[in-house]
Amino acid sequence: SVPKLKDPSLLKDLGLIGGKWVGAHDGKTMPVHNPATGEVVAEVPLMGAQETAEAIAAADEAFQTWSKTTAKHRSQLLKKWYDLMLANKEDLAVLMTVEQGKPLAEARGEIEYGASFVEWFAEEAKRMYGDVIPAARPDNRILVLKQPVGVIAAITPWNFPVAMATRKLAPALAAGCTAVLKPAELTPLSATAVAELALRAGIPAGVINIVMGDAKSIGETLLKSKEVRKLTFTGSTAVGKLLMKGAADTVKKISLELGGNAPFIVFDDADVALAAKGALTTKYRNMGQTCVCANRLLVQEGVYDEFAAAFAAEVAALRVGNGLEAGVTQGPLIDERAVQKIEGHVEEALAKGARLAAGGKRHAAGPLFYEPTILLDATPDMLATREENFGPVAPIMKFKTEEEAIRIANDTEYGLAAYFYTGSLTRGWRVAEALQYGMVGLNESNISTEAAPFGGIKQSGLGREGSKYGIDEYLEMKYVMLGNI
Ligand code: ADP
Repeated sequence: SVPKLKDPSLLKDLGLIGGKWVGAHDGKTMPVHNPATGEVVAEVPLMGAQETAEAIAAADEAFQTWSKTTAKHRSQLLKKWYDLMLANKEDLAVLMTVEQGKPLAEARGEIEYGASFVEWFAEEAKRMYGDVIPAARPDNRILVLKQPVGVIAAITPWNFPVAMATRKLAPALAAGCTAVLKPAELTPLSATAVAELALRAGIPAGVINIVMGDAKSIGETLLKSKEVRKLTFTGSTAVGKLLMKGAADTVKKISLELGGNAPFIVFDDADVALAAKGALTTKYRNMGQTCVCANRLLVQEGVYDEFAAAFAAEVAALRVGNGLEAGVTQGPLIDERAVQKIEGHVEEALAKGARLAAGGKRHAAGPLFYEPTILLDATPDMLATREENFGPVAPIMKFKTEEEAIRIANDTEYGLAAYFYTGSLTRGWRVAEALQYGMVGLNESNISTEAAPFGGIKQSGLGREGSKYGIDEYLEMKYVMLGNI
């Protein structure tokens, strides 16, 4: 059951193929649950290889005309889509909270963030400049054209069910590509609602298609297809590696945005109150379920106790409950597996000598709720600091020197986001350069914006999303030589 929407027709419990809302061929469905209450919110189609093949065919057909439209035309349609997302912000936010669990205020923030990519790429669509390059021979001219790659496949996770879809679809459509989107099975309703708004904006049938259901067979069908020329994925490192291998057979262009293990470093010369507030924001957003959440806090010995006290005071003000209730800042985790993972991390950390400064167990609000937790005296050998915990658990480690902090921070196969706080300009520059991460927040914990290139290095991924660079992921370069002039 979903609270009454202003526009109930935004609840689309079907897939989208060639502009038509459709169920699975065999009529099979799967439930979507509200993680706060356990209630079934909707039954959506359990699709597989056949529907995926149809979606690819629809996208391929639409590509023949969409790719030939002018950039200005695509820009105008994207702008309309952006306006419709903002006009329907409240309904989209409610749908998101109901299927994903995040507090309503965060859901509203995600609709704005998700829409910002549509606005950004509506603007960038008009700026896909090519080149004229001075030729090495007098009677030649060298031109470089930018052309859309073709049909793209987008596979998105449940933690940002709108923003991860628009961060991929908007640049793809701006470039002239058409898309098959597979949202996470846990949160398909945010994606279908946003796609419905795209149709209302006038984006033609077949330009955006959505399939959901059996992730493995949908994934295999997308990978095997010769028409699908690009795969863009956000999700776990394990699945990302699998898809990267699968994409090899058809040599697809790929973008991967995978897991992280973000360090959050506080130096002795930092503004400790600012750092404590920053740590709260990046650690507990979406209950700790973001790939750029601080996963481990490293605090220099001179300010360790002061920071721990300031941070604990911030954490004490968090309110756990159903995200639809006013004032709630922490909703449920996405599923039982997620809760068990952090239970394991906390148990292991305590056995290895960590001390609890807050939380440490499930919350009374319901089976999927976990108390905001702080682990003091954490060490680099604990699972909570080695693995992405993806929950409301903040392990705090103590360090002595800058070199030690950098060594610990870089000692991971991940390289997505890192944060550090210092009052020193020279240290700021030095540490920013030394951190092996795709994104660094210096005295700032909220780094996500459509204007900046989002992405990781090492095993955190390939490619960048957003910014002036994001559209390149959906374009091929073609070089044309004019001869015998
Ligand atoms: P998470 O741990 O965040 O759930 P996953 O990597 O499992 O991360 O999921 C991210 C997305 O990848 C989801 O849409 C999920 O359905 C999809 N997915 C999972 N396994 C596969 C697979 N074998 N092939 C294609 N997509 C997959």
